[in-house]
Amino acid sequence: MEAVREPKSLQEAILYFSDQENCLNYLVARRPEWSDGVVCPACGSKKVSFLKNQLRWQCSARHPKRQFSVKVGTIFEESPLGLDKWLPAMWLILNCKNGISSCEIARALNVTQKTAWFMLHRIRLAQQGKQGGKLGGSGNGVEIDETFIGGKARNMHKSKRARVITGTGGKDKTVVMGMLERGGNVRAMVVDGRRKKELQKNIHEHVEAGAAIFTDELRSYDGLEDSFKHQVINHAVEYANGNVHTNGMENFWSLVKRQLHGTYISVEPFHLFRYIDEQAFRFNNRKMTDAERFDIGVREIVGKRLTYAELTGKVHGTETIQ
Ligand SMILES: [Zn+2]
Repeated sequence: MEAVREPKSLQEAILYFSDQENCLNYLVARRPEWSDGVVCPACGSKKVSFLKNQLRWQCSARHPKRQFSVKVGTIFEESPLGLDKWLPAMWLILNCKNGISSCEIARALNVTQKTAWFMLHRIRLAQQGKQGGKLGGSGNGVEIDETFIGGKARNMHKSKRARVITGTGGKDKTVVMGMLERGGNVRAMVVDGRRKKELQKNIHEHVEAGAAIFTDELRSYDGLEDSFKHQVINHAVEYANGNVHTNGMENFWSLVKRQLHGTYISVEPFHLFRYIDEQAFRFNNRKMTDAERFDIGVREIVGKRLTYAELTGKVHGTETIQ
């Protein structure tokens, strides 16, 4: 087979992934468990033959499910949609700075909006959970901040709207906490309010003891100086005092808010963490080209499943299968 150059732009990606064989080759090369050749997902045997006409493999051992496709064991498993739609959708969500809505995906790829919504959530799932070690280990300071996120009243159901509008400011909003290692990665998470216990538990979990940390004057951050080099910027007085500021976190929040308010018109609090993770993925891989960011994203699709029932909260259960 002649080697075809891998895509570098959206236009090239749509063209390249319109070919089923290109899709297959691209994915096979990025499945870590297949780095020494394709392995039967049911029994682990390497004795598999490629059925060229079907673009599937067949295991030489006799057992159920001996035929399998490249989608097996990934977020694409059992999806009737072709990879010619899945992979361009992935290209868009991983590379569009403000995210992309299910309406836009539906129009661009000729699928229903409901299908597009489900696709985007499966792609977001794949990008979750890869965190590595604690922040601040490099010696760079860590900015810590929290923000309120709430839906727009005009998109809510009438009774809910009445409740929100008469409620007190932040009460119906969701609190999101973020930690950013300067020059490095951000971690952001939905938290259960701004109480000291809640915020400090996350800081201890995600930030290296002894690291320099920067927060505003919120009382919930009091006492962190016992474990960290804690410096406080008083936002009532100034935004920065030398290197004491949380401007990096503020930049991240403005990206999140542009994403949520511009692209995604209304996000249920139940799903909010998925959108936060989506923005964190793009932010943490911001210094790459689109092709590199896509490559990294594709490597995360294995071993993860999200069913429609899980997504809509009709069953509970783990979102990750191994
Ligand atoms: Zn087998």
